[in-house]
Amino acid sequence: MRDESGAVIRLEDYRPTDYLIDRAELDIRLDRHATRILAKLHLRANPAGRPAVPLVLDGDELRLVSLAIDDVPAAPEAFEASPERLVIHAPPAQPFTLTIETEIDPTANTKLMGLYRSGSAYCTQCEAEGFRRITYFLDRPDVLSVFTTRIEADRDEAPVLLGNGNPVAAGDAGGGRHFAIWHDPFPKPCYLFAIVGGRLDKVADRFTTMSGRAVEVAVYVEPGKAEDATYALDALKRSMAWDERVFGREYDLDVFNVVAVSDFNMGAMENKGLNIFNDKYVLASAETATDADYANIEAIIAHEYFHNWTGNRITCRDWFQLCLKEGLTVFRDQEFSADERSRAVKRIADVRVLRAQQFAEDSGPLAHPVRPRQYREINNFYTATVYEKGAEVIRMLRTLIGDDAFRRGMDLYFDRYDGTAATIEEFVACFAEASGRDLGHFAQWYEQAGTPTVNARGHYDAEAKTYRLALTQVTPPTPGQPEKAPQVIPIRLGLVGGSGTEIALSPAATAGHMPGVFVLDGPSATLTFTNVPEKPVPSLLRGFSAPVRLEIDLEEDELLVLFRYDSDAFNQWQSAQTVATRAILRAVGAGTPPAPDRRMADALRHFLSMRAGSDPAFAAQVLALPTEADIAREIGHDVDPDAVHRARQLVKVELGAALAAELAELYSQLSSREPYVPDAAGAGRRALRNACLDLFAAGRPAEGEELAMRQFRDADNMTDRFAALGVLSHLPGAARETALAEFSERFRNNALVLDKWFSLQAMIPEPETLERLRGLMRHPAFSMGNPNRVRSLIGSFAMANLTQFNRADGAGYDFVADMVLALDARNPQVAARLLTAFRTWKMLEPRRRAEAEKALRRVAGTPGLSPDVADISGRSLS
Ligand SMILES: [Zn+2]
Repeated sequence: MRDESGAVIRLEDYRPTDYLIDRAELDIRLDRHATRILAKLHLRANPAGRPAVPLVLDGDELRLVSLAIDDVPAAPEAFEASPERLVIHAPPAQPFTLTIETEIDPTANTKLMGLYRSGSAYCTQCEAEGFRRITYFLDRPDVLSVFTTRIEADRDEAPVLLGNGNPVAAGDAGGGRHFAIWHDPFPKPCYLFAIVGGRLDKVADRFTTMSGRAVEVAVYVEPGKAEDATYALDALKRSMAWDERVFGREYDLDVFNVVAVSDFNMGAMENKGLNIFNDKYVLASAETATDADYANIEAIIAHEYFHNWTGNRITCRDWFQLCLKEGLTVFRDQEFSADERSRAVKRIADVRVLRAQQFAEDSGPLAHPVRPRQYREINNFYTATVYEKGAEVIRMLRTLIGDDAFRRGMDLYFDRYDGTAATIEEFVACFAEASGRDLGHFAQWYEQAGTPTVNARGHYDAEAKTYRLALTQVTPPTPGQPEKAPQVIPIRLGLVGGSGTEIALSPAATAGHMPGVFVLDGPSATLTFTNVPEKPVPSLLRGFSAPVRLEIDLEEDELLVLFRYDSDAFNQWQSAQTVATRAILRAVGAGTPPAPDRRMADALRHFLSMRAGSDPAFAAQVLALPTEADIAREIGHDVDPDAVHRARQLVKVELGAALAAELAELYSQLSSREPYVPDAAGAGRRALRNACLDLFAAGRPAEGEELAMRQFRDADNMTDRFAALGVLSHLPGAARETALAEFSERFRNNALVLDKWFSLQAMIPEPETLERLRGLMRHPAFSMGNPNRVRSLIGSFAMANLTQFNRADGAGYDFVADMVLALDARNPQVAARLLTAFRTWKMLEPRRRAEAEKALRRVAGTPGLSPDVADISGRSLS
């Protein structure tokens, strides 16, 4: 445990280091329990730092074996070494070298930070502060060094040895051992350092860059799994081509390697030239991966690759600037997926994630700005706010200044800051310069937490043919920010006539902004549109042009006009969601089935007849009702999750029954005899077919169960098989248990597929689920040591089973609290992440709130907590 636990790090305390490390030469001798690291660091005083002060290097659970200064063994009084730091009292005034030998036990490293073993391989994870678990270093992102790494291992145990940069030498080291030397010419912070050693298979290819250089690209996986990595390799090559085409960014090394490992805290890591991935985001075959898995693999491969420029070539000055690389890179991967697939469907999917994760975070005790100003444990700030809201800020920036100025700003940023560690201010200044606009107020999005609510009220004057739209905004208080200032909110908008015509906007209404975009930058504003021939329906926040909640006084008929005619696909979908949300909220209020809503069923029926054939992926999004969490967020306070669940189910049953004939017909039309291909078109057809099955089964459970069982058994791909199992999992009875048993038998040797099976059962909204969960923890495939297993079983329960995690008797909270405490000693990062399931506890009804608080207090009061869990429990209770 680090002894500085509890210390608050603040942005305003930033100062440059007193020393720089220009070069780092590492010699790593891999051994299961006693890996030796010899690090020769070339240091000099930093002209920007303080002169002649002691040198303090970071460590974490390290053991120093030997130390030399300028190749002379250091006298004991010259330094002080503890597991947490190495202090050189009086370093030489001239540039000097430090040769540090440390020894670590990779097998005992259950935190999966630093150098550890996953299966039979050695691998590393250094972001954010894992490198200090390998050797003493200035472990912060603004210290950029050129790394040369020699890796040595038993040839039998680790025939493959990979490092950052390009391979420069390899050979025999005697005694059954061999070595490889890697050199990375690009200076980088140590969080981007990586090595891998192990027995691995690969798929490889060659990519020719825009300037004609050949790059060897490869994906390494456990032996026997190479076939399942071909999709990831293909996604990588497409990402490389896209970044050249869209951002003019070319790859810069001779090789690019991706390695999949099974024990990994995060999704993947962008180490320079050597990305290390959670195998969940690499391995895929028709038999084992769903369409969603394929889409995730594509997106995450792209994301980590895009970091080569946004993160690696230009890195962050300090961890407060994390969104500089993450928000921007999420935006880039979202754009890539939008180009590769359906833009509208991708946008809807991204907004669903944003609302589910980030809006939830932003409205609770863990709310923080996109760029936080302080932290206790940086690992806890890899959040939806930094990533997803950070991406929305970039998207708004582009909406504000337009595509051309945005691209010029990006080019300027790459030109000016290549090879440096930059800040948000420096980034934003590039766009201000490229667009000639003052972005000072806009930059407040990085500083102010909380989700603004925009309220819109419209009035049509038939005589004057004018339409007035009054807009106001308010952002609720968040921890540490009681007072909020108005944000700069780009609202993309249009006016739709009753018969579906798009009414031309009078130019004065949005003067000074990009076409079709009004920018609300004060507490309120009124827009007046002239020459409006009929009472229009306003279509606001098209494409979800800002991460805000929109309140608008539209009648149901007006929403249905947008659903039917809006030229903006996002708002078409949104209006259908709003109609459904209102129906569910009415049912929550009444506690009984609402009066059957003909209009909604009729509108859906019409929509399916018009659009199901031409745009099935979009139609599938329309058929998916808002989630229980969406409804809970809409209610906002004193939420009873059981009432939400019942109400949503009532509406779903009613809709499924009303549309049963159409759904059954569409389902059979979409049945395909074509072999499975994981492309967007096929995925769209499967998504709609499975959405039909799901809604049909709600309305006609007996027939639905039969249909689902048939699909479950006959499917030739995981998408259809798992969707059918998902439908069955919501229908209590023998068929469900039979299908679950058949599924686990069929995939008993595939851990990633069993994760799906764990997760599905953890999400069953029935009181018996907690017992089922306890039973599954004894399943031979389950392990508390593997983050994927923990997330799929316990994480799915905590994060995605609203009724059972939030049981009125508090048993769900107690279970998750127990799991957090059990995990904490082994892997604090995963434990802390699990604890964030409590982030919405304050919006529950009083009884559950009390139970949740009790469980949180129990966690917070446990002695010896990691800084990670202490931080989350403390903030959750504040
Ligand atoms: Zn990233």
